[in-house]
Amino acid sequence: MLDVKDIETFYGSSQALFGMTLNVQAGEVVTLLGRNGMGKTTTISSIMGILQPRNGTVTFNTTAIAGAPSHRIAKLGLGLVPEGRQVFPNLTVHENLVATASNRRGDPTPWDADRIYALFPALQPRQSSMGNLLSGGEQQMLAIGRALMTNPKLLILDEATEGLAPLTREEIWACLTRIKDDGMSILIVDKNIADLVRLADRHYVIEKGRVVWSGSSPELLANPEIQHRYLGV
Ligand code: ATP
Repeated sequence: MLDVKDIETFYGSSQALFGMTLNVQAGEVVTLLGRNGMGKTTTISSIMGILQPRNGTVTFNTTAIAGAPSHRIAKLGLGLVPEGRQVFPNLTVHENLVATASNRRGDPTPWDADRIYALFPALQPRQSSMGNLLSGGEQQMLAIGRALMTNPKLLILDEATEGLAPLTREEIWACLTRIKDDGMSILIVDKNIADLVRLADRHYVIEKGRVVWSGSSPELLANPEIQHRYLGV
């Protein structure tokens, strides 16, 4: 579904990605792991067209997307839940959900607001609350809901549980498990490895802008050396 090959991305003259390569198959949940500053967000931004890789290719379902504008990439079916949530502060919960909703590829069972409220019951009584009045957990649920309302084929989450209380984190992981069970492909950047090995099929560990290890959840669990050396676990 998503094939990232040998991408090199720069901030001005400073190189952040040195031949990043990864892929996500349909129905898979894949993670991007690594310590701070190793290039996870830069990789996501390079996939989503926020940054333009100088070299390499990004292919989504046979369409070459590296260097394409973000709105065109989103239209193809990539839904981003950005780092820091970025919900619209001066729109209500309901307005946040419907503002960018679309079903461009004609999904026969599209996500709508009712399905989002069923997935995140905490949002239901908050429908008329402004985005900036929500708790961090509610904002994160709203950010995920807003991405789902674009009916993506691949959902990309950048640090979706950062700064959240353990119980709220659990709730987010449980919802992502349900979305996965529905057949959604998901690419996740996060630091909670214990939760991720339960949810994800495969992992890429990155250091200094390139992949240094990849494997399944059982392989990662069986490899304390990798966990310690590259993830500080
Ligand atoms: P974190 O978990 O801290 O977000 P990350 O793995 O997502 O880390 P990136 O944010 O992708 O890492 O950063 C990769 C490298 O690019 C780092 O060396 C960082 O300093 C650099 N970098 C990131 N954003 C910029 C920017 N706007 N301008 C210049 N350099 C940047």
